[in-house]
Amino acid sequence: MDPKVSEVIDDLKSCLEYLRAMGIEALPFPSPSKSTLKAVRSEMGDCRRCKLHRTRRTLVFGEGNEKAILMLVGEGPGYEEDVQGRPFVGKAGQLLTKILQSVRLEREEVYIANIVKCRPPQNRNPESEEISACRPFLLKQVQVIQPKIICALGTFAAQSLLQTSEKISVLRGRVFDLHGVRVIPTYHPAFLLRNPERKREVWEDMKRIAKWLREFSASAYSAGDGS
Ligand code: URA
Repeated sequence: MDPKVSEVIDDLKSCLEYLRAMGIEALPFPSPSKSTLKAVRSEMGDCRRCKLHRTRRTLVFGEGNEKAILMLVGEGPGYEEDVQGRPFVGKAGQLLTKILQSVRLEREEVYIANIVKCRPPQNRNPESEEISACRPFLLKQVQVIQPKIICALGTFAAQSLLQTSEKISVLRGRVFDLHGVRVIPTYHPAFLLRNPERKREVWEDMKRIAKWLREFSASAYSAGDGS
């Protein structure tokens, strides 16, 4: 071995022995398996894994805080989202922004994504092969962000995340566990535009979510993580 290399190794060894003697058993290196949203996006590339790629204008990956405690998951991009490349920016999106603001949350603090990342033509429902093709990427987004809470917006988000065929009216307002993440399904904002009398139920769900968020932030703060 090159004597310089063995000198560096010896230095490193004595440095680690010194740290261990000081009571430091592990170094805070980032885990090599921890991915990033950028890596997930580049893995999707110019995705052609399902037929939605043929009619989409833009792949709408998702947006928001990579360290969000709350993630909101919708169904799929509509016309405006397809044009702008951002989730929930059309009429339903404007309502979602207002709902968040009604419980003092801003879009920038949460992460917003969809079950399918490409617009289904004429806003039809996403098909099961399209959902299955996109699901691994949504799960990777969840793995990177590690939210504490996921709010599933509407039937497709709730059914796909929870792998159930129960109706949203049955799932709404109930709390589920997805590998340690609290999942709460609620009605989709587009449904609320057609059925404004159901807004109160969503508002109740959002108030619960906002309360959990405050509790999570308080416990992170008291654990010394609140800088
Ligand atoms: N509806 C959704 O489910 N997602 C969007 O991004 C916009 C509308």
